[in-house]
Amino acid sequence: MKEKHETAYEKLKDRLATISDLSSANGLLFWDRQTYMPEGGVAGRAEQMATLSRLAHEMFVDDGTGGLLDAVGEQDPSSEEGAMLRRARREYERATKLPSDLVAEITRTTALAEPAWVRAREEADWSLFAGHLEKILPLKREAAEHLGYEDHPYDALLDGYEPGTKKAQLEKMFEELKEGIAPLVRAVSEWEGDEEDRAAPLYGDFDEAEQEEFGKAVISAFGYDWERGRQDRSVHPFCINFGPGDVRVTTRFEEGWLAPALFGTMHETGHALYEQGINPDYARTPLGSGTSMGVHESQSRLWENLVGRSRPFWSRYYPKLQEAFPEALGRVGSEAFYRAINVLEPSPIRVEADEATYNLHILLRFELEVALLEDALSVTELPNAWNAKMEEYLGVTPKNDAEGVLQDVHWSNGLFGYFPTYTIGNVLSVQFFDEAVKAHPEIPDQIKEGRFSTLHGWLRENIYRHGSRYYPDELVEKVTGRPLDPAPYLRYLKSKFGELYGLS
Ligand code: ZN
Repeated sequence: MKEKHETAYEKLKDRLATISDLSSANGLLFWDRQTYMPEGGVAGRAEQMATLSRLAHEMFVDDGTGGLLDAVGEQDPSSEEGAMLRRARREYERATKLPSDLVAEITRTTALAEPAWVRAREEADWSLFAGHLEKILPLKREAAEHLGYEDHPYDALLDGYEPGTKKAQLEKMFEELKEGIAPLVRAVSEWEGDEEDRAAPLYGDFDEAEQEEFGKAVISAFGYDWERGRQDRSVHPFCINFGPGDVRVTTRFEEGWLAPALFGTMHETGHALYEQGINPDYARTPLGSGTSMGVHESQSRLWENLVGRSRPFWSRYYPKLQEAFPEALGRVGSEAFYRAINVLEPSPIRVEADEATYNLHILLRFELEVALLEDALSVTELPNAWNAKMEEYLGVTPKNDAEGVLQDVHWSNGLFGYFPTYTIGNVLSVQFFDEAVKAHPEIPDQIKEGRFSTLHGWLRENIYRHGSRYYPDELVEKVTGRPLDPAPYLRYLKSKFGELYGLS
């Protein structure tokens, strides 16, 4: 009889597949909680999710995983097997470097901090949250020390979202962006004078069912595969995947405002196209999802902004949108609509920011979180420091802390090093898109005809299918022939908004 002999590699793969199944099951519980779960399920669901993540974590950091990784050893990361091992080892090392007491303490502290942040924001009272942030910061500093770094503790935290990226690279990126964007924003605000409210066409009476139908038609044309996905409603839209065969998106509809569902749907679908495009052989392995937060965000922004806020796209789709909403848009010309979806105007709120000023919001957060981590800035000083930078970069002053330093949930969850991935996404979206158009100059004309398969195919071939096989810096280099570069993004902003606002 032939005996079944499992190699260490196969055993490791089995083990990682089981862990991936536990995470997917947990993800499904999360999806259900955000979409269909009745109120009464809250407490039970918290227990179920905690149990599944504990099981997955314990199995992953177990000596058994380390033993198998050692037994297999390292292999050339240019092979698929080698890349899988490299990624598994990286995640294993990050997970095991943190003492479990510290992990538990961070979980406990942030679990209390988030509801405190919710209250503080509701009441616009910084003092209700400050004490929590004071507890979170030393824990994150401690985590950075355990994780290790060469140059700066921030690198250790950033590495969790954008593997291999360093604070110094971000500083260079933001410097270039600041230099390029600030004059653009200034020119636009000076030029605008007392113009009418450009965004007005997006407000009105927009039937929810019509919005949903229109959004579905758009993302179907993008190439979203409904056999391997679905769309539901949730308060905070997201994309989630349980392997390449099941990648779901959620949307939020507002009957009085067209923008959230229209652009939110395209945004989440950008994330979904990435996940649906990953090589199915990578399912249940550490290569089976997008390689970093920044590269992921580049895809949501690419479909939302470079496609979904472009002239070619709307020359095709605006007549259809008018047909769907004859009352609200029948008398709004296509140029007025295009201007409405591309208003450039500094505002105190990040999530409402336009394509250009958005990055100044991120720059401000990046500088402040670095200063907090270095202890160069105290929690008490933070609200004033926030407002001062707001004034300096955007020329606006929040009317209170709810509209200022308390607007984002991230720090209450201990997410330091996360914000910059949004801007990395913006920068990469154009770097990748330019490359696609260089390879296929017909793409803009195809978009004008409502055809997206060449663009989608290029992205799938060059980015999506690789999943996490390459680290973000390797992928960017491989696809565009150079490292992360803000120049194409700045060129794009200047040409788009220069034309829109008649700047020379
Ligand atoms: Zn996103």
